[in-house]
Amino acid sequence: MNTVARVENVCATRCARLVAGVLVVMIAWLAGCGAPTKTDAPPAPKAGGTAQPASGKKPKLLDLGAGKCIPCKLMAPILEELKKDYRDTLEVEFVDVWVTPDAAKPYGIDTIPTQIFFGPDGKELFRHVGFFSKEDILAKWKELGFKVEPVGGAAAAPAFERLEPAKADDRPKDTVCYMCDGDIIAKTLVVVKTEKGEVRLCSPHCYFIMYSCLMEDKAGFEKKVSVTDYATGKLIPTTDAAYLLGLTAKTGRPWIRAFADTAAAEKERETAGGNVLTLAALQGKELANRCGFCDRACYPEDSAKVTCDGMQTLGCCSHCALGVAVRTGKDIEVHQPDGLTGEMIVVKTLNGSVASLEPPTAVAWFGQRQNKEGKWVSAGCFHQGFFVNAENLKKWVAQHPNDTGRQISIAQALADKMKLTPQQVQKACKIGECAPK
Ligand SMILES: [Zn+2]
Ligand SMILES: [Zn+2]
Repeated sequence: MNTVARVENVCATRCARLVAGVLVVMIAWLAGCGAPTKTDAPPAPKAGGTAQPASGKKPKLLDLGAGKCIPCKLMAPILEELKKDYRDTLEVEFVDVWVTPDAAKPYGIDTIPTQIFFGPDGKELFRHVGFFSKEDILAKWKELGFKVEPVGGAAAAPAFERLEPAKADDRPKDTVCYMCDGDIIAKTLVVVKTEKGEVRLCSPHCYFIMYSCLMEDKAGFEKKVSVTDYATGKLIPTTDAAYLLGLTAKTGRPWIRAFADTAAAEKERETAGGNVLTLAALQGKELANRCGFCDRACYPEDSAKVTCDGMQTLGCCSHCALGVAVRTGKDIEVHQPDGLTGEMIVVKTLNGSVASLEPPTAVAWFGQRQNKEGKWVSAGCFHQGFFVNAENLKKWVAQHPNDTGRQISIAQALADKMKLTPQQVQKACKIGECAPK
């Protein structure tokens, strides 16, 4: 008999008692049984039973688990979804080996959860031990040559996409923020002189975002930067300015106004509130909160909250939040508000797959643009989002006529991130690496 696998996503390490129970059961049957039925199925790691073939002509997924083991619990909503949404093309059965050890007997398992894939003829085709994501299960069926699709066929759940902007962006280029693509606000414009020309930003915050994702040596960079004096509308060197930093009453999100000198900033403070800061102090505050994936400066009020190993970090966008899983190599929990309504979406990962999604209808918008070579690439962090359902996503897209991209599943968004190499992670979201301008 195989020893209990010591991998994290199986019950072995976390539910030792339960597995011990399974082992006892197994020893009992091995003592009393003859040689297990041999199958000529391809990759069946153990001699599997064929006592429970799929009924009818559908292939069947059998999950052997228990109600109280953690990876089994994570499997439960996935099995429910498959059972409901794929009922026309797939049979799904769950056997609780703790409650009904006899029903589990024929399959010769020693670790839970174990998923066994049966062909329509009842032949075992494949088995997997440990947590298995919905994406991975569907991919495996495809690989095995089965058309497992949602009820009504693939056409019943069309993936939404918009590859042509609903409305051409006819704003003059010098009125569009280089970082966020928002409208330039005359009173808070920031101008950065670069070798390739002038970069215009809507606000000091967008400047610090840009600063945080520069790859070059940043020593003395501030000498290239001018900010707008909020009082007069004139550009002044950023190093000479005094800054007024306040908080928006409802959201707590910071706002920044630049002034030619401290006296002017203090005068504004009398009516607007806030604190007067030097550039160095402002920069310290602006760079204090960083995206746990791409390192760019962000405000917690704009960001996803990510828990990793009991520590809190941020995702500057929904996709970056998932990227914390690949950057840290750990399981994470993401809290990201719906891009339209602010309703919370919670994603938990396990070994680089989505372990649970709340609400289960939640989807991702992958904002993309075509680069000069015609390849579809990420449109950048400001153009990504999660939505509690596809309807909200479509409403949001309708409100953003310039945006192009695709609806993808959150599992797919995570899978895409997990494919990144450490080198790609290091360059992620840096200027020129992501958003085509
Ligand atoms: Zn901006
Ligand atoms: Zn980021």
